[in-house]
Amino acid sequence: MPSDAMSTLLVLQSRDRDLRESRQRLDNYPREQERLDREVAEAEARRTAARDELRAAEVTRQGLAQGAEEARTKIQRLRNQQLEVRKNEEYQALNHEIAALEERIDGIETEEIGLLDTIAEREETLRAVGEEVDRELERLRRERERLEEHEAEARAQIGKREEGVTAARAAVPADLLQRYEGLLAQKKRFPVVVPLEGQVCEGCHLRVSNEVAGAVRDFEVVACDQCGRLLFLE
Ligand SMILES: [Zn+2]
Repeated sequence: MPSDAMSTLLVLQSRDRDLRESRQRLDNYPREQERLDREVAEAEARRTAARDELRAAEVTRQGLAQGAEEARTKIQRLRNQQLEVRKNEEYQALNHEIAALEERIDGIETEEIGLLDTIAEREETLRAVGEEVDRELERLRRERERLEEHEAEARAQIGKREEGVTAARAAVPADLLQRYEGLLAQKKRFPVVVPLEGQVCEGCHLRVSNEVAGAVRDFEVVACDQCGRLLFLE
């Protein structure tokens, strides 16, 4: 059994450890939030990419329609010109020009038909991607909600654990508290108060001297002569 003084210190150490665990958990939340932000952005980017592809096809189609329109206007102009010409060669030359333009319009119309299929496919893709993205965003929204709940719980838990640490600290004799805090500052990790098993320190698993072991059995506050942790008997 540890001495009464040592028992107060063990309570403090255990509460300190719990508090640190809670704080570490809280430290992870910003990273989790960032991961969610990233996943949201990736989902939105998938939708944007599908929309951009559809727009590109629509812009190409507008260009084609405009090209056909221009060719038709030109044909009309050439026909008007034909009414003015006197020589047959001139008339034939205009006919050639008109035929070439009509051929161009045919080509454009064929291309437009293919493009309409592409546009229909891309509209379908955008719809499917959009549904998938909406589902993904909904999942991420729920995940964020859960995360925020857990974070709030962790904060509340930290508040309680801080109170527990304060209460435990008040019960530890001042000189013992000072040694404990010095060790914590030096080792940065738990535990710094450890049992002596036989003559072996449970912190560093090395044998302590007979002198140290004797002091521990006499309930003196004594440190492991290997690692400096405070020792007690269970
Ligand atoms: Zn040790």
